[in-house]
Amino acid sequence: MRGSGKLFLIALLMSLVCASTSLAAEDVEVTDIRYWSYPDYTRIVINLSDSAEFTKNRLSNPDRLYFDIKNTRIRHELKTNLPIGNGMLKSVRAAQFAENTVRVVLDLQAVRDYKIVSLEDPIRIIVDVYGHAAPSFKKRVVIDAGHGGHDPGAIGPHKLFEKDVVLDIALRLKKILDSQPNLEVFLTRDNDVFIPLEERTAIANSKNADLFVSIHANASPRRDAKGIETYLLNWSNDEEALKVAARENQISLKQMKKMKRGKDVLDIMLGDLSRELKRDESLKLANYIQLSMVGSMNRDYRHIVDLGVKQALFYVLLGAQMPSALVEVSFISNPAEEKLLSAENYRDSLARSIAGGIAKYMSASPDARTVADLRK
Ligand SMILES: [Zn+2]
Repeated sequence: MRGSGKLFLIALLMSLVCASTSLAAEDVEVTDIRYWSYPDYTRIVINLSDSAEFTKNRLSNPDRLYFDIKNTRIRHELKTNLPIGNGMLKSVRAAQFAENTVRVVLDLQAVRDYKIVSLEDPIRIIVDVYGHAAPSFKKRVVIDAGHGGHDPGAIGPHKLFEKDVVLDIALRLKKILDSQPNLEVFLTRDNDVFIPLEERTAIANSKNADLFVSIHANASPRRDAKGIETYLLNWSNDEEALKVAARENQISLKQMKKMKRGKDVLDIMLGDLSRELKRDESLKLANYIQLSMVGSMNRDYRHIVDLGVKQALFYVLLGAQMPSALVEVSFISNPAEEKLLSAENYRDSLARSIAGGIAKYMSASPDARTVADLRK
């Protein structure tokens, strides 16, 4: 009884608070604004409590880009002035511009280009701002171990976590690639920590990477599903590919299908001048990795199923400015493959075979650098 009395009191207080601030139930809140700043690239993420329409505009003297987000309010405790000062952006500011409009302003300094995309779950607007890059002579590879922290990824029937398996493979892969003098290798995470999908792409862009490879373990409700597959970012109608992308994006299959029609997603994918070349290079990269994995894993383990190279919209690859691929190393949901994935030897073989694919790509595409050069 005491519990329900308390509940009633809370409900009453909430209705009083709502009445006093005239915060209508349908008002969407701007809940958070974050940014990741690097020498020639900045990613800004505006989180919303629900979907909202927005318009964008760019003004000069002083140069600034602003977004008017309709039917929204700023959450009370939100910090509304973020000084950045990285040579590209001076600051990001947010204000209740009109009673039901929040205006977010980016004060620009030296900007080459910018891209905007909105994503769901959580609902957020992502703004990528590009500055002017300094040249690098080594080839840079960014390796992304999927999931981490509170996000375990897929979980095997014997409770093996995808996040642990892929981190171990990524660490091994870095060690192998580090032995190549012409490579510089970065990891998006090197321990059990959660990193939002959009931050992973931000890290690859900020490092001005030549390649981005995201490592995952597959899962299916069909326990006998098994094998290796490699993805690149592109449109897809394939139901199985859509399911894999929905799981990795942590959204429903229905949302996944809807995403395809989103104009902003289209914009970030088609608005890129080097897209065609990047897609061709990503396809090459994915093919080399897949071939190398299936070839060498079959030599060591036999009966490894080749599921081929596929395409789908993965959040983690969206907005990546370099050739990129996502590897599904095996099915953690399959008891036999889960057992293999729990063994050090198998993980080591996987890391070696991915490294082999990357090396093959690098030697076959010595001009891969031109993709990055196109952006300058
Ligand atoms: Zn995953």
